[in-house]
Amino acid sequence: DIAARAVDVWKVYGSGEAQVVALRGVNVELARGRFTAIMGPSGSGKSTLMHCLAGLDSVTRGEVYVGDTKLTGMSDRQLTELRRTKVGFIFQQFNLLPTLSAEENILLPLAIAGRKEDRQWFDTVIDTIGLRDRLGHRPSQLSGGQQQRVACARALVSRPEVVFADEPTGNLDSRSGAEVLGFLRNSVREFGQTIVMVTHDPNAASYADRVVFLADGAVVDELVDPTADAVL
Ligand code: ADP
Ligand code: ADP
Repeated sequence: DIAARAVDVWKVYGSGEAQVVALRGVNVELARGRFTAIMGPSGSGKSTLMHCLAGLDSVTRGEVYVGDTKLTGMSDRQLTELRRTKVGFIFQQFNLLPTLSAEENILLPLAIAGRKEDRQWFDTVIDTIGLRDRLGHRPSQLSGGQQQRVACARALVSRPEVVFADEPTGNLDSRSGAEVLGFLRNSVREFGQTIVMVTHDPNAASYADRVVFLADGAVVDELVDPTADAVL
């Protein structure tokens, strides 16, 4: 059962002498209910691959699927709809709206999509991530780790097919980072959530079920059930 798939994906930025080939025929299948980490040196194409899989960026050649839905050839409007309904995002910089409370931030994607919240599911996510007593706080009243946990709840509350996390622990100390990673891993174990995470950090990658290594725009290696030692 595959939650997202890249089939011979090429991505070329620019043209002529300024041309950059960011992805060179990438094939990757992301199994449903698994936590996949994407690692590789800076400039190896990690962000580009994630953006293509999430429908944030178009591919130059090849095909991308989320569930059974083929993204390649969709209009911008269809892609926007897909991102609202099937995909969740977690960013390095949290990207919370400063004037909204934690609860309002968490429910905003549902509100924008005009979807009704499932209160029972909201409660389950909040209690699992431990944010019950922080729901009325604004981002500036929360620690970095708490803000990222709010962002995790926001990503999960719409029950997306896939959650994409781009360096989710990049701005956190190791303790807050471990809490966030522990929650992401639990959401895979307990809720069957599918997660794809880009990271530079071998310790973060060790929380995943599988690590895909990119170099120079191609998949060069893969590791199942990683430990931090093995990732290094
Ligand atoms: P990573 O996430 O592994 O650091 P990226 O996917 O950001 O790698 O970048 C892969 C390559 O594509 C790099 O050479 C980068 O400079 C280039 N690149 C990424 N985005 C763009 C863009 N919008 N325009 C031009 N080149 C880009
Ligand atoms: P990340 O920290 O996620 O790897 P980057 O710093 O590589 O992000 O890129 C930040 C933004 O700039 C991204 O949207 C990426 O597509 C774009 N970008 C990266 N490299 C280039 C480039 N060489 N030319 C133009 N845009 C780029």
